[in-house]
Amino acid sequence: MSQIRNIVILTGAGISAESGIDTFRSAGGLWEQHRVEDVATPEAFSRDPDLVLRFYDMRRAAIQEKVPNAAHRALAELDAQWNGNLLIVTQNVDDLHERGGARRVLHMHGEHLKAWCTSCDIRSHWRGTLIDRPCCPVCQARTLRPDVVWFGEMPYRMGEIHAALREADLFVSIGTSGAVYPAAGLVRTARELGLQTLELNLERSQGSNWFHETRLGPATEVVPDWVAEVLGG
Ligand code: NAD
Repeated sequence: MSQIRNIVILTGAGISAESGIDTFRSAGGLWEQHRVEDVATPEAFSRDPDLVLRFYDMRRAAIQEKVPNAAHRALAELDAQWNGNLLIVTQNVDDLHERGGARRVLHMHGEHLKAWCTSCDIRSHWRGTLIDRPCCPVCQARTLRPDVVWFGEMPYRMGEIHAALREADLFVSIGTSGAVYPAAGLVRTARELGLQTLELNLERSQGSNWFHETRLGPATEVVPDWVAEVLGG
């Protein structure tokens, strides 16, 4: 590890699983009994906005009851102590990395605790509901939607993610199935750029073959162990 200076970490639903937030897979490919196509696409929102807004209102309320686990806290410790570049790219829309204490976090799939006004294009912090069509705090239009990237939409800040990879020596993927693109393709980019690659996951994923090394186990065990190794070494 001594030659490692700059690190990019990709996290997925698996890192929040032990905080009590279901992964997509553990729910059998359903989210709260809903098919993805019915709640997590722009088409679903046009077809049945009430269903979609109610679904996200429920999830927004639920994540506020959850607390960060030892894996989130270990990454926060790494963030605090690591002198080189570090970027935690998360696919998660919960805020457990931030509440665990991490600062260098990029939400490529948006955030439950933000609402996006499609009239003025401003994103506002949001803890309450959207089903009641509240006004945008900036322009007053009643056109707020969850600030979550739906299937078929472009993830946020891909340019920044690729720039961080170009500067990095190590890419680490934690608790993600390697099924959702373009996040799943980041390991290939990392390999093409010559980075070391490490996967930490409960079980082997669709992307495991792309990594130099895969360590299996629950995130609350394998992540603190890896962080201790990096900071100790
Ligand atoms: P996924 O559900 O497809 O895969 C979850 C992965 O986590 C699997 O590889 C599984 O082996 C692993 N996992 C499960 N429990 C774990 C544990 N205790 N420790 C370590 N790993 C564990 O999730 P994904 O790959 O992130 O992709 C699905 C999409 O849905 C993403 O956009 C994702 O962020 C989103 N999503 C987000 C949340 C959240 O914000 N917490 C929850 C569910 C889904």
